[in-house]
Amino acid sequence: MPTVLAAGVAAHLFIGFWQARRGIDADRLRKLRKTLQIIFQDPYESLNPKHSVKEIVAEPLVVNRITHSRTDTHARVLKALEDAGLRPPEDFMARYPHELSGGQRQRVSIAGALVLEPDFLVADEPVSMLDVSLRTDILETLLELRDKRGLTYLFITHDLSLAWVLADRIGVMYLGKIVEEGPTRAVVKDPKHPYTKALISVVPIPDPDRKRQRILLKGERPDPGNIPRGCRFHPRCPVAFERCGWSSEEVLDDLREIALGADAAAQTIVAGARTEGPDGLLLPRGSEAWLQSAIDMKSETFRGLMAIASIDAVADGVRVGLHAFEEPSLRTVAPGVRAACHLVE
Ligand code: SF4
Repeated sequence: MPTVLAAGVAAHLFIGFWQARRGIDADRLRKLRKTLQIIFQDPYESLNPKHSVKEIVAEPLVVNRITHSRTDTHARVLKALEDAGLRPPEDFMARYPHELSGGQRQRVSIAGALVLEPDFLVADEPVSMLDVSLRTDILETLLELRDKRGLTYLFITHDLSLAWVLADRIGVMYLGKIVEEGPTRAVVKDPKHPYTKALISVVPIPDPDRKRQRILLKGERPDPGNIPRGCRFHPRCPVAFERCGWSSEEVLDDLREIALGADAAAQTIVAGARTEGPDGLLLPRGSEAWLQSAIDMKSETFRGLMAIASIDAVADGVRVGLHAFEEPSLRTVAPGVRAACHLVE
């Protein structure tokens, strides 16, 4: 069940992170856990099919020894179901997950998260598995609960238009790191990071007369197990430049692509090129002029060429050195807004 695992890992990491940052001892952490709850993404996988709705929602009360009588447990489960929008709650207590619709299952998940009366809820894509017609209802319930119970949500979503409507603050993540963070209005109206700009540019506008230039990112998202060096967004960034982290392998890939549409001489040069570690290349003798013209003509498209800092003729060929790079850190770039990009530092 990868979806449940991913969400569980997220919650675990979050609590572990908090513990490490705040130096919280085990006893305090146990108490803290009751105030932090999670709503999982997939209501079809996250509910135990062998447990009734009452057993599912009551489980956190039993595990945390919150209630001491059946009557108390029963009353709290009823209240959580009612607040989660399952009305009348008595009708749902004895049902099993297979007897519920997708929306009702997600409401049972919400009730399970609410029953401990938490302060903070991690909602991990809580509507992405639901039919579009049910999404609004569930979101309305979450917003009502926010006001009624004074809850704070960490709402994880791939749907920027949803974050736009729901959130007070947005944090945009790319490959596991926040690249921009700030008040929703500021981030949406004036995005600073190139990734945020690309995301916002493809959100549909419900007005046929308004046009916006879409920024389509090239290539696939890299393997999270093999994060690109420097700025992790650089292989796809439409405005990446010298300092963004290009490796010699990436520069060589760009040269290979350029040579594909070029003459035989260019193809011979590239066939004889090799990397010398992550920061240098060696090209065949006499390739300086072709390389320089490729940089002059093609570096706007093949941005890895911008990383070339030096071209030196040596005894065994042409040595190419790359610019130094660094990973951008999250810095304040506007009131309340932080972004991790060399261009806006
Ligand atoms: S640092 Fe900025 S310009 Fe460079 S790759 Fe990253 S996002 Fe693009």
